[in-house]
Amino acid sequence: MNKRFALALSAVCLLLGTEISAQAKNGAAAPADSTKKAPPKPAGITDKVKASKKHSGLFTLYQDTVTGSVQMYIRKDQLNKDFIYQSFSLSGPTSLFLHQGMHRATLVFKMKKAYDKIEFSTVNTNFYYDSKNAVSKAANVDVADAVFYADKVGAEDSTGYLVSVDQLFLSDKLDPVKPIFPPTIPPGAVFNLGGYNPTKSKYSNIRSYPNNSDVVVDLAYDNPMPFNQGGKDITDARFVRIKLQHSFIEVPVNDYKPRFDDPRVGFFTQEVDDLTSNEIVNYRDMINRWHLKKKDPSAALSEPVEPITFWVENTTPVEYREIVKAAGERWNEAFEKAGFKNAVVMKIMPDDATWDPSDIRYNVIRWVSSPYPPYGAIGPSFVNPKTGQILGSDITIEWRSGAETPFLDVTEDAIASGANLQQQMMENMPSHMRKHWATCTIGSELTKQYMAGSTLITTSDAPPTEVRKAHEQFLYYLILHEMGHTLGLNHNMKASQMLSPTEVHNTAITQKLGLQGSVMDYPSININSDRSKQGDYYTMKPGPYDLWAIEFGYREFPAGQEQTELNKILRRSHEPHLTFGNDADDMRSPGNGIDPRVMINDMSNDMVAYGEDRIKFVNSAMSKLVSKYAKGDKSYQEVLIRYNVLNGQRFSMANAISRYIGGVQVDRSFPGQNNGSKPFVITPVAYQKKAMNFLATYVFAPNAFEADQQLLPYLQVQRRGYNFFGAPEDPKHTSLVQNFQTNILAQLLHPTTLRRINNSALYGNTYSVADVMNDIMNAIFKADAAGAVNVYRQNLQTEFVKGAAAIVAAPAGFDNPSKSAAYNTLRKVRTMLATAVSPNEQTRAHRSMLMFLIDKALAVK
Ligand SMILES: [Zn+2]
Repeated sequence: MNKRFALALSAVCLLLGTEISAQAKNGAAAPADSTKKAPPKPAGITDKVKASKKHSGLFTLYQDTVTGSVQMYIRKDQLNKDFIYQSFSLSGPTSLFLHQGMHRATLVFKMKKAYDKIEFSTVNTNFYYDSKNAVSKAANVDVADAVFYADKVGAEDSTGYLVSVDQLFLSDKLDPVKPIFPPTIPPGAVFNLGGYNPTKSKYSNIRSYPNNSDVVVDLAYDNPMPFNQGGKDITDARFVRIKLQHSFIEVPVNDYKPRFDDPRVGFFTQEVDDLTSNEIVNYRDMINRWHLKKKDPSAALSEPVEPITFWVENTTPVEYREIVKAAGERWNEAFEKAGFKNAVVMKIMPDDATWDPSDIRYNVIRWVSSPYPPYGAIGPSFVNPKTGQILGSDITIEWRSGAETPFLDVTEDAIASGANLQQQMMENMPSHMRKHWATCTIGSELTKQYMAGSTLITTSDAPPTEVRKAHEQFLYYLILHEMGHTLGLNHNMKASQMLSPTEVHNTAITQKLGLQGSVMDYPSININSDRSKQGDYYTMKPGPYDLWAIEFGYREFPAGQEQTELNKILRRSHEPHLTFGNDADDMRSPGNGIDPRVMINDMSNDMVAYGEDRIKFVNSAMSKLVSKYAKGDKSYQEVLIRYNVLNGQRFSMANAISRYIGGVQVDRSFPGQNNGSKPFVITPVAYQKKAMNFLATYVFAPNAFEADQQLLPYLQVQRRGYNFFGAPEDPKHTSLVQNFQTNILAQLLHPTTLRRINNSALYGNTYSVADVMNDIMNAIFKADAAGAVNVYRQNLQTEFVKGAAAIVAAPAGFDNPSKSAAYNTLRKVRTMLATAVSPNEQTRAHRSMLMFLIDKALAVK
């Protein structure tokens, strides 16, 4: 307390002193008056719980059988002790990430007695203090207390206290269910739950076991005037009730030793700063991993004392159960390299099992069906935030092959805006939720890839067994990937770069080594336009990186040798098969990331060659869609969906290839590895130009989309009620193409890309911003400079001119060399336009508009 404030406070106390003591006197006098009746003895615990059902366990919970109200008995030896809280959503709107299987808030909490109350507060686990260091006496001095609940002790006995917990569980104190959206998101843009309604909220289930207590609640929300009605999963936007599970878990008491994180390998972590360290870099981040311990520590290969056991839920279609089981067991190959035999055990949940899959004592691969599958699969785990020990995990899978696709709208825009919303929601989460809110969108990416692959297989007249093979490999890969998450691994979006475009179809290599360095990538489906040379569609085993990462995370070492031995493993990070880059680096949205190899929906170490094959394959398949899918008494809806997924392939290839222009390759080797690498190396200029040439041919050229034209009269959405009300049903191909092209331009002309090109020129990049803009200009204007400009190119040329004009006019964001390059490009376009001969009225109109836009931008009088 500051001194002046303390003095002021004591003065106030002096002034109030008389009155306070008078009150105390009156109060104290009452019991002494023997003529009055003694107050009734407060009710004991037995009285307070006599109408309640008892759930004994970690915390004993008493639920009133009439009102449903819950009281919690807290033993005195449980006070001032750490416990873990974890919430799970069991049912709720997908758009708010409240659907089944989401692991939500994780925190460590303590309960303390404060006078006649019990306080629940969050323990801050962000810092470490070495107890041998005197500084540790000042531990957490400036760390704010977070008391999330306090209530009066209802009754007490010699061993503990009874507290009412309705206000704790039937509320959003533990898990702030409602996302907080920044004010930049207009009302109505997202579905909003409205206000919490305690009257309609209730307990759904209570389970208590020796090491954990689970309380499942139904929380009701009312929104009298919803601007957004939500999807079909919202029965009535005014009244929504969600299901949430609160789990209190005992902090495990065992000999688990945390393992410390390294930037060269991708594990999920608990971030901790060591405030007693003298090192400049004082990170003490711990990786998330299971507590695996050898049964026989002296054996090179031993079974673990307790394996990682997963149950395949009995809702899984019977025909897929063995695939799921086999994919999970395949991870044992990685654990064997780390010294463990049968580390992963997969079991099938019996159809007559009596346990609940949401019981946290079981790790379950759940197969669910929700109206809007957002991910297809998620594989999170929950951990002890103090050590990183994984305490439990679930995988949720969703698969519907015929997922409805919006009419002509398979653009990355929708995906990007979804991801953007998720990002904004995440940024506004309290930190105890943000930290563990790792979601995986592989299911939705992989589903689109698989659907495109199955379309290409079918249109090339392959037998149906081939589509089945692709589907089985798709599911197998999905499980390998999600299992990797549950073992602690985060994404490795660089892993699909391991092999050349020829090697990816050589099964002698892919079945031995793997098709990718890691299963933690979102790859393109691996399909060959030369059907006689088709290899595996998806990798069927953990790759070399996965084996290496698991060895780093799980191998046991003799006492005192751990760090030396781990360093030996880590020093291999520069080996090509072990390359790593995660979502923090990836380039899926324009302007993000810097290393083109860290990308989703790509494959092989030569994307220009790989992408060219894919686009040619897609273009040739377009002519067969109608004959394959428009048959008999069926609408054209499937033709439309197949068209959309094929067009998505063009986009994912072009998107990946655009990143090579101005891309910088990142190497995270440490100096001691002595491999001669540097952290930043430019993409070879010849390859950047190859990428530009690809875009010129397959994205910007006047005929880039002509394969679609014969299809347009058939792209009819199936009428369903009034589903095209407000949006005419005719194909809007020009908008589709324009959207695609401007997305690619958004990457090439992004201020971050341009600034990186200017900076990388200082360490070897000779492909300047002016050169890049000149090449884009040539790709967009040259081919039809002497003749008619078709409608696609009119849009493209206009968007480019507008983009360049915006760079010239931008008050901030773009650096000066980029502005000069844009200015000069516009001048050159103007010169070109001034001499162009327009053979028709539409082309004349278009060019006249361009001249107007350029003159305005250059302020030419
Ligand atoms: Zn993932």
